[in-house]
Amino acid sequence: MSATQSGQQSTPPIVSVRGLRKSFGSHVVLKGIDFDVQASQVVVVIGPSGSGKSTLLRCCNGLERPEGGRVEICGRTLVQDGQMLADADLNALREEVGMVFQAFNLFPHLSVLNNITLGPKMLRGLSALEAGAEARALLEKVGLTQKADAMPASLSGGQKQRVAIARALAMKPRVMLFDEPTSALDPELVGEVLQVMKLLASEGMTMIVVTHEMEFAKEVADVVVVMDEGGIIESGPPGTIFSKPAQDRTREFLQAVLSRG
Ligand code: ADP
Ligand code: MG
Repeated sequence: MSATQSGQQSTPPIVSVRGLRKSFGSHVVLKGIDFDVQASQVVVVIGPSGSGKSTLLRCCNGLERPEGGRVEICGRTLVQDGQMLADADLNALREEVGMVFQAFNLFPHLSVLNNITLGPKMLRGLSALEAGAEARALLEKVGLTQKADAMPASLSGGQKQRVAIARALAMKPRVMLFDEPTSALDPELVGEVLQVMKLLASEGMTMIVVTHEMEFAKEVADVVVVMDEGGIIESGPPGTIFSKPAQDRTREFLQAVLSRG
């Protein structure tokens, strides 16, 4: 199934996944995923724990090696039939595909500013001055101008995640992957991170977001993809998925999430 109800767009998708299969040992985790994302689309991936959402994202930036299928992203063939891009190309691709994790993964020994400037200095060849100027602009975007010299340990979870987003953006990615970016946060800190993500979406960033924040999905997603047991069981605009899901399993999942929240 195509995430974009294929045929409506004429430009090639920026992410195209076909027949993607991934196992860990004998455990088949992705059972043949088909999925497209157009430039500037926001695709929200939902589904129960263990359904393969993180593995799907990780297959989109080369953190996992699938056994079968094809992933094309930003004009490159990342994986085809178990063959991955060579390391040099993989590194170039990772610069174009930013990823934000549930657990922030900031470098604890570096200041906020240095967390953000490290990648651009090492991989984009920017001077400290150039990288610093860009980092400060990104900190303004995520509302953390005052925290440039702070160490990660002194920040709240919401602030850490906003730094992690700024750090990913510093590589000037063409696609951003978010894996449950607010799941580790205290409830009162979720909003500040979602607000930054909404801003990115409104600026036209292409985003694939795994989240249980259904209000965010309703408001921001162009397409909601529902995964269960290693497959996409349905996809469509949020209005359809949330009010008239085709699958009973989608309905059950949504009821479980909404009764929790
Ligand atoms: P989700 O993000 O939807 O919760 P995951 O993609 O993390 O699901 O995991 C899907 C399944 O794959 C789970 O059963 C999980 O235990 C298994 N899995 C994920 N990563 C690994 C790994 N590195 N080794 C073995 N099993 C894994
Ligand atoms: Mg996950």
